[in-house]
Amino acid sequence: MKKRLPRVGISACLLGEAVRYDGRHKYAAQIVETLSDVVSWVPLCPETEAGLGAPRPPVELIGSPGSFRVVGVEDSGLDVTTRLLDFSRKKVRNLGRISGFILQSRSPSCGLKSVPFRGSGLLGAGVFAGMLKHEFPELPVAEDVDLDSAAALDEFLRRVRRYDLNPR
Ligand code: SF4
Repeated sequence: MKKRLPRVGISACLLGEAVRYDGRHKYAAQIVETLSDVVSWVPLCPETEAGLGAPRPPVELIGSPGSFRVVGVEDSGLDVTTRLLDFSRKKVRNLGRISGFILQSRSPSCGLKSVPFRGSGLLGAGVFAGMLKHEFPELPVAEDVDLDSAAALDEFLRRVRRYDLNPR
C-alpha cells in the first residue's frame, strides 16, 4: 500500500510555476529536489489565484504590519488590498489538512517575515503568510531562504512529520 505523505503547502513559483509578476518562476532546486519524494506538495500562488494574472504589475506593501495597503510599485493608484485579503482569508480556511508551508521570501503576499513596508521601514509578513500564521500558529512554516542547507531541510522535515502526527 502506498504510504500517505505529509501535505506541505508551497509558493507555486518555488515549484517552478511561471506565476511571478514578471511571468517567470523562482524554482528552488534544492528544496524541491530534496523534499519531493517525502512530502506531497500543495502549490499556491495567492496573487494569480486572486485573479491578478501573470504577468501582472508588481505590488508592494505600504504602511506597517498592523495597518497596510497593497498597491502598485509603479502605479500607486492600483490597490489590490481587498482582493488579496478576501482571497487569503478564504484560502487559509479551506486548505484542508496541511503539515507545513514553504513561502517565497520578500513577496507582499507570501513573505513570512522579510517583506518591506514602504513608508515605515519595517519588515513583516505578506498578506497570505500573515493570515496563515494567525490561523495556524503552530504550523511549521519557513521561507525559502531559511532552507538553504541540508541540515535546515532535515530539521524542517522533522518538524513537518511531528506536526503531521499531531496537527493543531
Ligand atoms: S504570490 Fe507567492 S506564489 Fe505567487 S509569484 Fe508571488 S511569491 Fe510566488
